Amino acid sequence: MTDSAGPAPGAAPPPTPATPATGDFTPAERARGRALRRAQLPWALGGRLAGLALVLLLGLTPAGAALVTAVGGWFGGSRTAEVLAGAAALVVLGQAVQLPFGAGVRTVRTRFGLVTQGWGGWAVDALRGLALGLVLALPVALGLFALTARSPRYWWIPAAGAAALLTAALSFLYPLLVEPVFNRFSPMPPGPLRTALLGLAEQDGVRVRDVLVADASRRTTALNAYVSGLGATRRIVVYDTLLATAEPREVELVVAHELGHVKHRDVLTGTVLGAMGAAFVVAVLGLLADWEPLLSAAGATDAADPRALPLLAACAALLGALSGPVQCAVSRKVEVRADRHALELTSDAEQFIAMQRRLAVTNVSDVDPPRVLGLLFATHPSATRRIAAARTWQASAPGPAADPGKSVV
Ligand SMILES: [Zn+2]
Repeated sequence: MTDSAGPAPGAAPPPTPATPATGDFTPAERARGRALRRAQLPWALGGRLAGLALVLLLGLTPAGAALVTAVGGWFGGSRTAEVLAGAAALVVLGQAVQLPFGAGVRTVRTRFGLVTQGWGGWAVDALRGLALGLVLALPVALGLFALTARSPRYWWIPAAGAAALLTAALSFLYPLLVEPVFNRFSPMPPGPLRTALLGLAEQDGVRVRDVLVADASRRTTALNAYVSGLGATRRIVVYDTLLATAEPREVELVVAHELGHVKHRDVLTGTVLGAMGAAFVVAVLGLLADWEPLLSAAGATDAADPRALPLLAACAALLGALSGPVQCAVSRKVEVRADRHALELTSDAEQFIAMQRRLAVTNVSDVDPPRVLGLLFATHPSATRRIAAARTWQASAPGPAADPGKSVV
């Protein structure tokens, strides 16, 4: 399906199903979304590339080994000191090199009216991110090098299992450990909307204890909602900006989409795929860290040498970056399914389309991004595609008039 076929000048938006809904957004709205994407992309992409370039430089040249030796020396130079200080240096440098790009993204988004937070709050967030990075990376590095010391050749077998378990544990703990670092969450106050949302979950046969509201407005005007956690930590979260801006029926459609994620166990599936991916990455690291030319390029003797840490980090970062488009493709499929669930649960394509329109316009989304960007980076289909899919669903949904069993002739 092409994205370029627009209506003739002056013509009404075509009502035919599956036609890209160019008429759903005004030329000004489309131009604004495109302008934000064009202004933001160099910063966002630049930050990722700078982070990757840094870790590759440190891991594939002796620079990283020199760094580990130097910072380990500040703390006595023992093996443990080199592992911990080396891991901390990688985290700090990695975040530092991306900081100017993050500031660039923030400046662009401020110009488009999407930022409500001052630079002070932004800096505090950066420090929180750094602290979180250290809290995660240091124990992982320590555990990893405990395994490589026990078996410099076969460490990756227990490490792959540990990586899978850690991924599952983080997915479970994410709502308890990570989300509260950045936001406060409160149960949605009692009222008609809360009753409607819990009624929707009941109609769907999904057990939802509560819908939580995140204080996203302290940072942004953007609208969002998501599902996180597993089992006892599972939760549906909506941004307070959504409650303040959208019509109650639109919020219901957003939650119906999130219920689709719950119903299809998307967080669990994502966790299992993530755990398998993590184990696979560790197994590949086991192979690479046994390869003499790579080790000598990195200035390390074997996988048990703390000077191999930057090499392992570089290989892991590269594999992660390469898997990005695959992860995005899986995500887009899952989002299409959740959209369909929202339509089937509510039978309300009109409000679904109104909701998509509101999300896209308020978030200044590029409703028709270039295909290559969609393939590489998009976790969701574009608003245009989501609306077109809703129209297709509406046109093919069995209505009372289309039921042949009710024919009277
Ligand atoms: Zn979703």
